[in-house]
Amino acid sequence: MEMELSEEHRRIRDTLASFAEREIRPFAAKWEREEKFPREIFEKLGELGFLGVSFPERFGGAGADTLSQVIVMEGLARYDGSVALSCAAHVSLASGHINGFAAEEQKRLYLPSLIAGKKVGAWCLTEPGSGSDAAAMRTRATLKGSDYVINGTKMFITNGSVADVYVVTAVEDPSRGKNGISAFIVERGTKGLSNGRKIEKLGLRASDTAEVIFDNVTVPASNRIGPSGEGYRQAVKVLEAGRIGIAAFSIGLARAAFEAAVSYARERKQFGRPIGEFQAIQWMIADMATRIDASWLLTIRAARLKDAGMPYGREASMAKLFASETAVWATERAVQIHGGYGYIAEYNVERYMRDAKLTEIGEGTSEVQRMIIAKSLLKEGYLREL
Ligand SMILES: Cc1cc2nc3c(=O)[nH]c(=O)nc-3n(C[C@H](O)[C@H](O)[C@H](O)COP(=O)(O)OP(=O)(O)OC[C@H]3O[C@@H](n4cnc5c(N)ncnc54)[C@H](O)[C@@H]3O)c2cc1C
Repeated sequence: MEMELSEEHRRIRDTLASFAEREIRPFAAKWEREEKFPREIFEKLGELGFLGVSFPERFGGAGADTLSQVIVMEGLARYDGSVALSCAAHVSLASGHINGFAAEEQKRLYLPSLIAGKKVGAWCLTEPGSGSDAAAMRTRATLKGSDYVINGTKMFITNGSVADVYVVTAVEDPSRGKNGISAFIVERGTKGLSNGRKIEKLGLRASDTAEVIFDNVTVPASNRIGPSGEGYRQAVKVLEAGRIGIAAFSIGLARAAFEAAVSYARERKQFGRPIGEFQAIQWMIADMATRIDASWLLTIRAARLKDAGMPYGREASMAKLFASETAVWATERAVQIHGGYGYIAEYNVERYMRDAKLTEIGEGTSEVQRMIIAKSLLKEGYLREL
């Protein structure tokens, strides 16, 4: 398996880093304090092509590989978890669902403005009563003549109150279980679409998270994505790809924490020496780097398998599981290395720690990832050609 980044990958990484140094790093803590979704950054990311690196060129994307998308996600999370999460929901989930399963005409209608950052996307699967067991959703879509009427409530939706384009799953035929779920595109401004209460969070506070309510929302039947009853299967595939993105997101947060910890360990003196000279601190740093690198290798493997057209669901879950648990562990270690200064907002590492927790929950909890991995292992055995 090729592990080196190509010249093109390095160019993407460096361009993103110089943009983020200038336009994101100085403001990340302020946006978080103000719980402000920085829409203008979204638009700039679109202008620079970062919202469509692995999307087809005919819709304004760059047609690059999945690793390029990983590099963008990792790079964004390193600077601001909130911006990265909003982009992950927009790119991998909303735009990814449309690109993967919508008709050519729907793609032409929605993808160019989503990729350009002129419109924001949201992906609505979770409901107040159904998270891990997404197939238990209760939102209904009823065909009436040539329209669908959608009723129900979606919960925890990233970009939920700022989006222009919503991809929504709903039960069309309850007698068919998972096979009765379809997916639809709903545009902001459609009558009956509204938001519930504001959701306050532990971290990622500059990323918008909202309840999305569908009260007799009527859309033309042509807004259904793919065949009737395919919505759940589409969502499972969208999440498989999305998990590579969340793994990258986790690595970005862990790296930010690691870099802060190393720099602090070099500078901070106690007992007449930099704390980095104490073995206890050195071992934390060594373990952080080892786990981050292992996460990166798992993520590259999943991305390469995807691009090779091979099954990659298990590997995406492994990457997401390991990288997210690494992010939680490494950001907490970074706080520990900072001592009291780690606990206060000024040094950012407490923000990384709060942000990281979401990675063990969103797009399938760690328990769900272990279920997916074990199911695949028991069915197919372990070794797979790479
Ligand atoms: C900030 C944020 C952003 C989000 N963005 C989106 C979004 O854009 N779109 C969207 O659709 N959703 C989104 N979500 C929802 C997210 O995907 C769900 O929270 C997640 O899937 C878990 O579902 P739940 O919260 O209902 O937890 P539950 O499913 O109720 O799980 C509760 C606990 O039980 C465990 N559990 C559940 N079932 C099992 C089992 N069979 N075996 C063992 N343990 C089990 C879980 O692992 C967890 O520990 C977001 C959530 C957050 C917090």
